[in-house]
Amino acid sequence: MGLSKTIWAQPCEHLRFADPEHPVLYFSPAALQAAARRFLDGFPGLVTFAVKSNPEEAVIQNLDAAGIRGYDVASIPEIELIRRIAPGAALHYNNPVRSRAEIRRGAELGVRSWSLDSRSELDKLADLVSPKGHEVSVRFKLPVKGAAYDFGAKFGATAELAAELLARAATLGFIPSLTFHPGTQCTDPMAWDAYIRAAARIAAAAGVGIARLNVGGGFPSHRNAGMAPPLEAIFALIDRVTAEAFGSARPALVCEPGRGLVADAFALATRVRAVRDGGHLFLNDGIYGGLAELPLIGLVDRIEVRDADLRPRSGAREGRVVFGPTCDSVDRLPGQVPLPADIAEGDFVIWHGMGAYCTVTNTRFNGFGDMEIATVLRLAD
Ligand SMILES: *Cc1c(COP(=O)(O)O)cnc(C)c1O
Repeated sequence: MGLSKTIWAQPCEHLRFADPEHPVLYFSPAALQAAARRFLDGFPGLVTFAVKSNPEEAVIQNLDAAGIRGYDVASIPEIELIRRIAPGAALHYNNPVRSRAEIRRGAELGVRSWSLDSRSELDKLADLVSPKGHEVSVRFKLPVKGAAYDFGAKFGATAELAAELLARAATLGFIPSLTFHPGTQCTDPMAWDAYIRAAARIAAAAGVGIARLNVGGGFPSHRNAGMAPPLEAIFALIDRVTAEAFGSARPALVCEPGRGLVADAFALATRVRAVRDGGHLFLNDGIYGGLAELPLIGLVDRIEVRDADLRPRSGAREGRVVFGPTCDSVDRLPGQVPLPADIAEGDFVIWHGMGAYCTVTNTRFNGFGDMEIATVLRLAD
């Protein structure tokens, strides 16, 4: 993967020039900075970026330039990346399971905020870090739906355990806070409503005034052409429900979007390698590459198709079976992909909204996985 220095007007200009056989990811710094400003202007608290969704250096540089001052990190390499590119930024080490070596190194590198969801991890942290000036953010979960998949399946204490951990963290002298993650691509704002009210009950049960409430990531990106993500409505709901639930004990708010910040700043151009007898399509990218997320959270329908001369294909959309380039039979996109009926070998299929969980999940399986990143002024004509 490489980032070229040239800046192209839009993806088609580069596609015409390069005629690429490999997938190309187009990055618009302007779109990323606009998304950052939308969060910074609208979210009623500190906006941090979930680094795992896209750790490209150019992404971190542009978020830093746009004014993002905190990062949700889950490993020492992510911490080192942020230290190098945005040295003054706050580091929230929000992987609830850490080795002792990772805790020591994290503290050395300046981590002052740690999330956890178990007694054993609180004990470990208290052994290694002197509590003064360090925040413990207890992660809890609820059985609520609304997201594309359920993050509570792996992490998060029950409300009872969260209250116990919060009280112990406060007694030990840590700055007590709470955190949750409603699940990625969460299009139902009521998930935040339920979690924020539960946080207030947990704090009351623990008898602890919390310093901060981190309302997670999960903010939706634009995956369905007909449904723009209702970010401002979600921000307003978070603000209102926090006031209602906590009253005069209102904590400072933190959010940690990955997808919601970065997804719409990238488009992925793939190419039709073959149209097989019977109409099945083979693309030059699939589930082992930049399209890894589609089987997990469903298709994006913001798909643009152009012929080899970059003219838009305008045939009526019909569902097609689409395979990736590897010889593995699971390398198939979910269901049937709505594509113009006149799509042909050599055409470009451009997927919009692909900036999250796309670069990082790209593998070299079967010798594929060459992926270029090109910078563009804008993502559409
Ligand atoms: C992955 C993750 C995020 C980002 O999630 P998005 O759905 O991409 O916004 C935020 N917080 C935590 C703890 C995560 O694990």
